[in-house]
Amino acid sequence: MTTTDTSPAPLYARAAYRGIELYAPDRRPASIDLSDNTNRWGVPPGALRELRDAGVALASRYPAVYSTPLKRTLADYAGVHPSMIVTGCGSDDVLDSAIRAFAEPGDRVVMSEPSFPMIPLFAAMNGLEYSGIPLSSSYDIDVESLVAGEPRITYLCSPNNPTGTTVARAAIKAVLAGARGIVIIDEAYVEFSDSTALDLVSAYDNLLIVRTMSKAFGLAGLRVGYAIGAPALVADIEKSRGPYKVSGLAERAAITALTEDLDWVREHIGLTIANRQRLVAALRARGLDVTPSLSNFVFAPVSRAPAVARRMREGAHGVAVRAFEGLRPVSAALQASGGCALRISVGPWPEIESALAAFDEAMAVCE
Ligand code: PMP
Repeated sequence: MTTTDTSPAPLYARAAYRGIELYAPDRRPASIDLSDNTNRWGVPPGALRELRDAGVALASRYPAVYSTPLKRTLADYAGVHPSMIVTGCGSDDVLDSAIRAFAEPGDRVVMSEPSFPMIPLFAAMNGLEYSGIPLSSSYDIDVESLVAGEPRITYLCSPNNPTGTTVARAAIKAVLAGARGIVIIDEAYVEFSDSTALDLVSAYDNLLIVRTMSKAFGLAGLRVGYAIGAPALVADIEKSRGPYKVSGLAERAAITALTEDLDWVREHIGLTIANRQRLVAALRARGLDVTPSLSNFVFAPVSRAPAVARRMREGAHGVAVRAFEGLRPVSAALQASGGCALRISVGPWPEIESALAAFDEAMAVCE
């Protein structure tokens, strides 16, 4: 994370904002961008047609105030009642709105680490305390430490970004049994995994499942996220998030993706899973200690990952991957890499081949 503006925060900014750095991931264009876990096959065909046909007509009108048509479609897709769905401008917006709705300034949010870096940022933006609880050496959550002290919000990510691992069902149930506040389970990558906690929303009125159309559904640029929870819970998020947050065009494309495009989406989930296994095998063959992934990316602890990623991008292959440094060294692999790692999104196999060639070239230079 870097900031683009080094001037001191103006004195009229809210105190909680003074230490916050602008979230600014490296988004420079690359020939092949495997850095952000979006769908490398692009937009599904029905949604693409809608974007082409409906774009201009929808641009001059306000969208549905609270995305009711999209909520109905998402409810069908998820098999729940529409009153259990809330949408937002990406799942980032839903997470931020939920944190704002359920915690007073000064309340505490807990998350396992390493996990999704936007959560501590949203906590800071909303004036909350944040505690990071280390994952175990096999990237399992530490239930006892997460529930200790009764945090207002407990955030779990399954599959977890960046490790690609899922949270065991028994651990999710133990957190729910011990939690006094809200439990958020971020399922942004659930379509690539074999487990969901969705069935638990009917049993726990403090459980919120957050999902997105940015990954398996290929609509990251349209910014459509949603959450599923008890009607009272999602009604509060709706207030906190406010009206008109999903554009008309985004809503139209998302509805089409969820109805007409499901075969396309499933086919590309299958390709992603097959290529993910091949990528894991290829990285292991290079001696890397790669954790099995249940997501659309692969997490590989690698020493000096930022230098390796820079070289992969700037070398002949022009492949962007996400580099991490300073991660909590919870596993043996992360200890060996000094807390550095690469996260490589999975796309069509020729792109993975380019990534592997770029990696080999970068390692030859960086070692
Ligand atoms: N949750 C997780 C775990 C993510 O990795 C991301 C995207 N990086 C998001 C939420 C946000 O996705 P979006 O806002 O595009 O829905």
